[in-house]
This record gives sequence, C-alpha cells and structure tokens, in this order.
Amino acid sequence: MTPTVKLRFFPWGECAAPGLFLMRGGGWRTIRQPVLVGLLEHPRAGCWLLDTGLHPHLQEVDWSIRLFARFARMRIPEGLPPTPRLDGVFLSHFHLDHGAGLKALRPELLLTSREGYESSRLGSTSHIGWNQALWPEGQLERTRWLENLPRRSQGPVTGFDLFEDGSVLAVPLPGHCHGQYGLLCQTEAGRVFFVADAVGHSYVLTRGLEQRLPSWIAADRRAEKRTQNWLRNLIHWCWMVPSHCPHSYLALP
Ligand SMILES: [Zn+2]
Repeated sequence: MTPTVKLRFFPWGECAAPGLFLMRGGGWRTIRQPVLVGLLEHPRAGCWLLDTGLHPHLQEVDWSIRLFARFARMRIPEGLPPTPRLDGVFLSHFHLDHGAGLKALRPELLLTSREGYESSRLGSTSHIGWNQALWPEGQLERTRWLENLPRRSQGPVTGFDLFEDGSVLAVPLPGHCHGQYGLLCQTEAGRVFFVADAVGHSYVLTRGLEQRLPSWIAADRRAEKRTQNWLRNLIHWCWMVPSHCPHSYLALP
C-alpha cells in the first residue's frame, strides 16, 4: 500500500493586484494573494519545506527586484518560515517569490529541476524572475535533480517519485517558466496536488476564468494553456493548491 504524508500550507508573504489584472471577470476589487509554503511530513523521509516564500534578502539583491516588489505590492515577512528541523526543501521553480529564502536556509538537501536550474542562469532578473545571488554557495553538492528520480504513475498522473514509494510525485507543469514542477501528494484525507504557479488562482480552473497577468509573463503561453486544460480535467480527482490562490489551501481536505 502507498504510504501517506501529512501536508499543510501557510502564507509566507503576500502580493496584491486588482482582480481584473489577474483574470478576466476578476473584478476591480484588490485580491490579496498569499505566497504559500508547504510543510510535508513523510513517515520515513521526515519533514520537507515546499518552496521558501519571500525573504528580506530580496531587498538586497538589486534595484529591479525592489521595483518589482513595490509593483506587486509585496509584503515581505521577517526571516524564514517557522518549521521543525527540516530534512530537505523542494523548490517548484526558480522564481524569486518561491526561492527567496534558499540562501538563508542553506538546505542540507534540495530537490529541484535541473532544467529549471539551468534556465535560471540564462537571463536578466527582470526576464527570468530570478537572480543568481539567491542561490546559496555550495548548494549544488546538496542538490538532487528531480529528473534523475524514478518515474511512476498514480492514476492519470505520471511524475518522478520523490521518496520512491509513490507517496509524492513531482509532476512537470510546463508553460509558466522552464522546469516548473508540482507535487502530487497522497495524504490521509486524499490526493492533494500542489500546482505552484501553473495557475494563478483556482477560479481559472474551477470557474473557467481566463488568466491574465500571470500569463503575460509566462515563458510559453501555449504550453501554459495546455497545462491548465490538463489540470482542469483533474479537478474532481484531486484537490489542487496553486501557490497564490487565497482560497484553496484554506479548504485543504
Ligand atoms: Zn512563478
């Protein structure tokens, strides 16, 4: 039998934008979007942080990040998210609102995409949404690439088997940026799919609202749309948690 994991999400930082910037039909009202991190407990592999959230370190990197933080009306918390001792960190993709805390964390083990890492070194901060100064010194020796893990399927979803027991699969979610992965997790209460930035708000999937701002900056908009259509087919099969949706993490099964 496939083991189950414990999983919860909480905001570690926040952004805000008028709803109609985020999606067609989103309204004029400002939507405050959490920057979520996840805490996953596996019976054998221990405690894992899913993404790191925002971190004050961002303000020191360069002026374009400070400008972006102001534009996105970011609320940056002090320090790192409170966690028990971590056995590792999973980074869904190389965007600064997901990996800003890496340098302060210096994880003993990081699981992330090789494709994502390599793309993160090929452009300016404003173009790729990442800055190499956010990568901790010596981290490559403490990193395992998702692409090297064994492949496995759960129902209609195929991914890389994080703990080699089928409990958590890292699933490619192309479009938003290069090398983005979500995590399909088997929890005691059912299947939970952390989909990172594959979709900016759960209404894009559940109400069919067309996404705007997150798509304007997507690396490949056609691939992003294909990924969203694929996820839409799974909404009755698993519970989805996008990194910036203000609703879905609160109703986690
Ligand atoms: Zn992103």
